[in-house]
Amino acid sequence: MAGSGKFFVGGNWKCHLVSCFLISPCILKQYTQNGTKESISKLVSDLNIATLESDVDVVVSPPFVYIDQVKNSLTDRIDVAAQNCWIGKGGAFTGEISVEQLKDIGCKWVVLGHSERRHVIGEDDQFIGKKAAYALSQGVGVIACIGELLEEREAGKTFDVCFQQLKAYAGNDYQLSILWCADAVSSWDNIVIAYEPVWAIGTGKVASPEQAQEVHAAVRDWLSKNVSADVASKTRIIYGGSVNGANSAELAKKEDIDGFLVGGASLKGPEFATIINSVT
Ligand code: PGA
Repeated sequence: MAGSGKFFVGGNWKCHLVSCFLISPCILKQYTQNGTKESISKLVSDLNIATLESDVDVVVSPPFVYIDQVKNSLTDRIDVAAQNCWIGKGGAFTGEISVEQLKDIGCKWVVLGHSERRHVIGEDDQFIGKKAAYALSQGVGVIACIGELLEEREAGKTFDVCFQQLKAYAGNDYQLSILWCADAVSSWDNIVIAYEPVWAIGTGKVASPEQAQEVHAAVRDWLSKNVSADVASKTRIIYGGSVNGANSAELAKKEDIDGFLVGGASLKGPEFATIINSVT
């Protein structure tokens, strides 16, 4: 079964700082300055003038502190996502940002379950599932990331890992729909699943179109069996992990790849536009 949803491309700007490269043993030349007000202004200007295929949903996720700047300067053609949110209503939770606050500044989406939050920060399936359920209950769409580590792939556990992570979003495992919000399971219209093999993220080792297609097809099959055939067909399953302007077109040809979640290459406006326009 192939997906029937509109192509969806997300740009994950993460928390990038100045990056440098060595041009001689004693001179460090500044290469990019991602993640500053100035660099974000430049990126937004590039996106504002880019010609984008009309039949693609496009979302970018700046760091929290720049969301307002981006919302105020970016074309309405592109939606804005947050990179995280709190698990429930706001209150005495120092350092957290609530879904209500994200809505207040115009965020329509939130990226959850990213491998950097799972494996660097230590978020587990249950915690991520709770956040997803709460965001959905408030009408904020969830870009729900899943994906296996290299050792899990090599041990033949890719599907098991992905299905386990999907269960947390679906609420089957932890009964999130009962514990957190009654409509989590019926909110599939607002979920985009991002399959991002951890070994491909930021490494330059993109999954082959066949590797990605195999997992996307399995995810769709899982949705069909565990949620419904209708949800399986409508839910966008996007691929992330070293997507760039040179490999996106081949990946996009695969029937179950409904778009991309792009990290590094989304920091370059023209290249991000190429990826968006690789819709087939
Ligand atoms: P990458 O990151 O495109 O730089 O590999 C993807 C992501 O982390 O979403």
